[in-house]
Amino acid sequence: VKKQGKNNYHFFSNELNAQITERVELEGELRKSIEREEFELYYQPQFHAGEAKLIGVEALVRWNHPEKGILSPALFIPVAEEIGLITNLGTLVLREACRQMHKWHEEGGPLIPVSVNLSSQQFYQPHLARDIKKILEETGLQPAYLELEITESMMMDAETSSEILEELSSLGIRISLDDFGTGYSSLSYLKMFPINKLKIDRSFIQDIAVSDNDKAIVASIISMAQHLKMDVIAEGIETKDQLDILVASNCSEIQGYYYSRPLPAGELASTFLAPLHK
Ligand code: C2E
Ligand code: CA
Ligand code: CA
Ligand code: CA
Repeated sequence: VKKQGKNNYHFFSNELNAQITERVELEGELRKSIEREEFELYYQPQFHAGEAKLIGVEALVRWNHPEKGILSPALFIPVAEEIGLITNLGTLVLREACRQMHKWHEEGGPLIPVSVNLSSQQFYQPHLARDIKKILEETGLQPAYLELEITESMMMDAETSSEILEELSSLGIRISLDDFGTGYSSLSYLKMFPINKLKIDRSFIQDIAVSDNDKAIVASIISMAQHLKMDVIAEGIETKDQLDILVASNCSEIQGYYYSRPLPAGELASTFLAPLHK
């Protein structure tokens, strides 16, 4: 028994060692990846359900790792946060998203609103509004075409977040509350803060065709948003059934694999911005 215990210990310690080594490697690579320009933005289109009309895109970052291929943000965003790289990466993402929208427009395509995700550290970084203003000026994108996606969990400090949001909002950009319904914030935030859009989380959409409860929750969010004069978009729509239920519940803005996965800029343009690449 003793011997087995010892072997187990060795087994776990090897496993743990391997995990730590991998993590240290990832951190090192992540630090270098920014200057090596290994990040790429994918864009997921958002549609007006009734007319299948493109109304915007969400920018989603990918890490084009030299050996491992395309890595998901779920894997590296938390690491970038921990090692203090997220503000650099976030600035890069913001600038690239604004640059791309302006470029498509200059090339004769439509001017498309872009949503960019903010991490909590980025949200609370000093001079965020000033940096964004500078990015808008440098890239030439009109502020009304930039939307920032924040989450309820970022707004634990109500007073500070209210000040930040007012400052951002005064730039003329839009604020969207991402993953709505999954956080802990109180609904009173909705009237305190300058929020333009609620984004209904995929977890409420997933079973909407089979769960009357989820259907009721979603219908309530939509109606609340309308009463508060906010826009509302549903994310994670994968099936026609889900789409039909949302349309019947008066949710006209839709994002999800049913219409399209997130795509590299070139692919998004050739698929959805036809005039650009005819
Ligand atoms: P999110 O902001 O909630 O983004 C939506 C995620 O759901 C994306 O995953 C998207 O690809 C995925 N998705 C969209 N439609 C569907 C669908 O119909 N079905 C399913 N199953 N999934 C769908 P992705 O691109 O892997 O991003 C994961 C998360 O990483 C994002 O969640 C966001 O929190 C974070 N993230 C991505 N890009 C950035 C960024 O530039 N900055 C920061 N701070 N976070 C980012
Ligand atoms: Ca988002
Ligand atoms: Ca989301
Ligand atoms: Ca999410």
